[in-house]
Amino acid sequence: MDKYIGAHVSASGGVQNAPVNAKAIGATAFALFTKNQRQWFSKELTSSEIEEFKENCKKLGYTPDQILPHDSYLINLGSPEEEGLQKSRQSFIHEMERCEQLGLKLLNFHPGSHLKKISETECLDRIAESINIAISKTDNVVAVIENTAGQGTNLGFSFAHLRHIIDRVDNKDRVGVCIDTCHAFAAGYNLADKYEFERIWDEFDQTVGFKYLRGMHLNDAMKPVGSRVDRHASIGSGCIGRKTFQWIMEDARFNRIPLILETPDELLWAEEISMLKGFCD
Ligand SMILES: [Zn+2]
Ligand SMILES: [Zn+2]
Repeated sequence: MDKYIGAHVSASGGVQNAPVNAKAIGATAFALFTKNQRQWFSKELTSSEIEEFKENCKKLGYTPDQILPHDSYLINLGSPEEEGLQKSRQSFIHEMERCEQLGLKLLNFHPGSHLKKISETECLDRIAESINIAISKTDNVVAVIENTAGQGTNLGFSFAHLRHIIDRVDNKDRVGVCIDTCHAFAAGYNLADKYEFERIWDEFDQTVGFKYLRGMHLNDAMKPVGSRVDRHASIGSGCIGRKTFQWIMEDARFNRIPLILETPDELLWAEEISMLKGFCD
């Protein structure tokens, strides 16, 4: 099957447990935190954790193309404050290094917030500069920028923001994007309407380009289109609705990238994955 479908699974007890948790829900892709997402730094991965992670991935059929690690929520690569910016940059490099140790090639992150202290443009420029620094200090991980709902002062809610950042990254081979359906919908992209759905992806292709699409977060949205509120719902029980996810599953432009559920009820993940797989037949 050309679609890699999974969820953001727990890595509690160690990263090596994530592929096991993914397999248990029938996933063919997964996302994970490689460290505690509420801490800036954490102790180094041990060689046995690394070995076991790689062995489990191999044994259970997950290649790096099917795995989308997510960074810590504390990191703000566009921070207007010098101290926060430096700490974020160091922490992001630390996250990239962990991905490299695990043999992974993508790192998904939220671009950043201006906190009303600098302009949107200055903030986006800072984010690009942060990515350039991280790329220069590491070997091969791709920085995968996630679109946001535009909640608070978070940037990255428009395709133009993503383009602005990509334009300023020197090594284009090491930058990509992850589109979260709930965030896009909250930011005003009406993915629930078929005509709009087609138009939005055309706009995405023209503004960003499908070649940069390295992953998707499949979430229904609790709040109506344009709400700017980041509240995920289970597939089919929110304001986007099941059909949109069927259109994605039927569309070859979303092949061979991790398609990750971050829906609120993890007891439904196995069911959601099997429903999504069913749409691909
Ligand atoms: Zn997301
Ligand atoms: Zn979200």
